[in-house]
Amino acid sequence: MTKYIFVTGGVVSSLGKGIASASLASILESRQLQVTLLKLDPYINVDPGTMSPFQHGEVFVTEDGAETDLDLGHYERFVNVKMLKHNNFTTGQIYESVIRKERRGEYLGGTVQVIPHITDEIKVFIKNGAKDADIAIVEVGGTVGDIESLPFIEAARQMAIEMGRDGTCFIHLTLLPFIASAGEIKTKPTQHSVKELREIGVQPDILLCRGQYEIPKLEKEKIALFTNVDSSAVISAVDVDCIYKIPELLHAQRLDEIVLNKLQLDSVPPADLSEWRRLVDIVENPCYSVDVALVGKYVDLTESYKSLSEALVHSGIHTNCRINIHYIDSEKIEEEGVKDLLRVDAILVPGGFGGRGVEGKIQAIKYARENSVPYLGICLGMQLAVVEFARNVVGLENAHSTEFMSDTPYPVISLVEEWRTKEGDLITQKPGADLGGSMRLGCQEADLLEDSLVRKIYGASSVSERHRHRYEFNNTYSSDLEGKGLVLSGISKMEGLCEMVELPSHPWFVGCQFHPEFSSTPRKGHPLFT
Ligand code: GLN
Repeated sequence: MTKYIFVTGGVVSSLGKGIASASLASILESRQLQVTLLKLDPYINVDPGTMSPFQHGEVFVTEDGAETDLDLGHYERFVNVKMLKHNNFTTGQIYESVIRKERRGEYLGGTVQVIPHITDEIKVFIKNGAKDADIAIVEVGGTVGDIESLPFIEAARQMAIEMGRDGTCFIHLTLLPFIASAGEIKTKPTQHSVKELREIGVQPDILLCRGQYEIPKLEKEKIALFTNVDSSAVISAVDVDCIYKIPELLHAQRLDEIVLNKLQLDSVPPADLSEWRRLVDIVENPCYSVDVALVGKYVDLTESYKSLSEALVHSGIHTNCRINIHYIDSEKIEEEGVKDLLRVDAILVPGGFGGRGVEGKIQAIKYARENSVPYLGICLGMQLAVVEFARNVVGLENAHSTEFMSDTPYPVISLVEEWRTKEGDLITQKPGADLGGSMRLGCQEADLLEDSLVRKIYGASSVSERHRHRYEFNNTYSSDLEGKGLVLSGISKMEGLCEMVELPSHPWFVGCQFHPEFSSTPRKGHPLFT
């Protein structure tokens, strides 16, 4: 039977619950346990796909095409299991499911209430997500004390009663601020946050205290006394410069042992974190270094490019190289030209939505193409590489994607519906459809062209990669573009859509319609980034 570790957060959000949960999962995985992770998001959106990256960071896409919270990306980077749709759910999904049951008459005329109907549904979703793992780590989004996350914590409290003492374990993450002017670490926010948690019926077993410094012995005892947590279970989660150090940091304070004791699973093999140590060593002592420009729109908010910046770090791990990422605002290129690109070794245009900054990205691509600077275009980055090539090499003036110019004379990128013949019945996107849930999502297979660069890079004749987009390369223009030297080197197996482009006349110019960053992990890397 699955045992559950609930991870809650207090004081402020963004303390790193996701990375802490993922790190613990990875230690437990090294102890030969089957571990999975779940993220419960306390907002009404049915999925994070409809939320702006400005507000919520990156939307992470799973293999089965779910648009999820970015924490699922952390999970996949730390453990060997792949996350799926059921590993992340929101309040919106819970309510949607309960309301559907109510409409069907499944509650037989009863009054439908938060307790027990919403909490029961949360428990069903949790157990469904855990499948038959030995341990499911359940991260409760939000901050204890918020109205929104109450039903989630109440469901967890009920599960603790139902499953008996060794069925669940509660970890609470708090902030331990250091007040510089007083030269003191303050334990009060931690005390208050635990008090808040106990008021709603949950006594934490373990505290992870996030702060700049390790918790001094006296403070640790004080926290233990006020929170009713054993002082050995008050653990320092100090800030680190490399997140892949965290498994070791938590293991050194015996976090896994305390958890396994609580869950009465102590007869498992010891942890083996040697692989993490090796990776961290490369990150800290690389032989080489390169400068990569990431030309995008959300450059002030690097959380929107989490998987991407991690994928670059991973490529460094596999090439013994430090990757210096320069976030360059494409609107600045529109105003000031490409001067910020002159000193970089490579240029990357990532995925994106909306027209702001698009012309700046096209300028960056033109610069890369004309000056033999290595270029990787991901999703929108591939689409704009096609637009740039159509305009400046093929001479199709005002060629564009219909996403940004609906009346362009040359819609080289458009919705499938806009260019399929009426007899062709493969209509996967319709203009005017709801924006939520209208994208090509998740893993799809593509064949790679013989003798192409990408076939050499992958060392395979086909690949399966994750998608998240509405617009496609318009096959009507394939021969015009191919005639001038653009090679369509990846074609989707199912629908014959263009998945990859490259330029043999250029040392390294690759565009992909999918998102390789979602499947890159520190231990394996990803061929395109490496
Ligand atoms: N906006 C483009 C589309 O919808 C690209 C999406 C992306 O880069 N993920 O097709």
